Amino acid sequence: MGILEENIRLEEIDRKYIWHPFTQMKEWLEEKPIIISEGKDCFIKDIYGRWYLDGVSSLWVNIHGHRKKEIDDAIKVQLDSIAHSTLLGLSNVPAIRLAEKLIQIVQKSLPPHPIKGENRGGRLSKVFYSDNGSTAVEVALKMAFQYWRHKGIDGKNAFVSLNNAYHGDTIGAVSVGGVETFHKAFGPLLFKTYKSPSPYCYRCELGREYPDCKFVCLDKLEEIFKDHSTGIAAMIIEPLIQAAGGMIKSPPGYLKGVRELCIKYNILMIADEVATGFGRTGKMFACEHEDVVPDIMCLSKGITGGYMPLAVTLATDEIYNVFLGEFKELKTFFHGHSYTGNPIACAAALACLDLFEKEQVLKGLKGKIEILEAWLKDLLNLQHVGDIRNVGLMAGVELVRDKKTKEPYDLAEKMGWRIAYHARENGIFIRPLGSVIVIMPPLSISEQNLNQLLKVIKDSIVSVTGS
Ligand code: PMP
Repeated sequence: MGILEENIRLEEIDRKYIWHPFTQMKEWLEEKPIIISEGKDCFIKDIYGRWYLDGVSSLWVNIHGHRKKEIDDAIKVQLDSIAHSTLLGLSNVPAIRLAEKLIQIVQKSLPPHPIKGENRGGRLSKVFYSDNGSTAVEVALKMAFQYWRHKGIDGKNAFVSLNNAYHGDTIGAVSVGGVETFHKAFGPLLFKTYKSPSPYCYRCELGREYPDCKFVCLDKLEEIFKDHSTGIAAMIIEPLIQAAGGMIKSPPGYLKGVRELCIKYNILMIADEVATGFGRTGKMFACEHEDVVPDIMCLSKGITGGYMPLAVTLATDEIYNVFLGEFKELKTFFHGHSYTGNPIACAAALACLDLFEKEQVLKGLKGKIEILEAWLKDLLNLQHVGDIRNVGLMAGVELVRDKKTKEPYDLAEKMGWRIAYHARENGIFIRPLGSVIVIMPPLSISEQNLNQLLKVIKDSIVSVTGS
């Protein structure tokens, strides 16, 4: 069979057997799928040999580029030892080494815990492994819930999260989610959460303007805490930027304000750094920007540099310690997945973290962030760009039908997708969130490729919106 026939066969088999995530399959079946066969640096290649710049880091996971030698080698070396053994009742070498490394990095990056003494102090010092962002969040929610039970404090059964929040697709993660399009359908299945306004200044749901508003959204959060604190286990938040909700950047001071309210009302704070962790925001973790340390932190995506599914939920000593007890007390944390702490994934993560030091990745981001911000400013001059938002190398460009009134495009117009398809024709792969164009290349992208990415995005916006 020739290459062309084999490619066509692959397309047919894909259509026949694969149900793609977050994809309207009726449309997929009508289109020619892009099937990726290779990657190098910040590019991915399809089976016809066309290269695309990976403008969204293969769903926000890739950090150092594709086929990074150091990570490739670490995986190959680990394969010569063992691919997988369980972490339930056993340990493994890469999982131990990675836990140590992660805690060193987190403790170096974040300030000491704000609550000292016997209350809720202690640094983030314990690593609980799982395998994706959603499970890292499930673990965090279950830990927070049981923490209070084990302390003998009953009734703290509910969670607080934000409108427009996205924490993953499992039912617990959806319960604390706040993106209508994705989450509304599952309403009857979800557990109770209190929803606080999203710090979405461009479309403030409280009808106010920053900074004159004096953080009225935090006042609303405080009202929830004041009225229900004895029933609230934890608040979960994506620090600095609500990513999948539309790259919604919170105003400076908001995150710190949330931390302070959590302390004031004796509510645990869970920072979901699944999207923001590992340099995306210009610092190792988004919490660093506001000197915040949470009680529980969720990490995944970039942890292995985009190579392997791996996640961790970090907890303070204080949380870990209340789970200690006699066997028959059943204080054990009854949670764990088959591939928890997978040695190959941990080996990849160790290599990924070493590269941050070896290649001084965070230092190298400054110039790239400046380039991105200059392009964003330029994009804001376009007639249908309503808002631009970025934290570090995570950016969103919100398209609107009418800039003056902020009238959005109708979902059915698929404006974001039309622009993404246009960009695709010009060698750029991006995936929008509704009418928000997401820009999130691998951190290793060269300045030249970053300029290329942004130029194609600008041309595509102009071409598709008409101005
Ligand atoms: N939390 C946040 C902040 C995320 O952005 C995502 C995924 N986009 C998740 C959790 C879920 O991660 P995963 O898709 O790996 O389950």
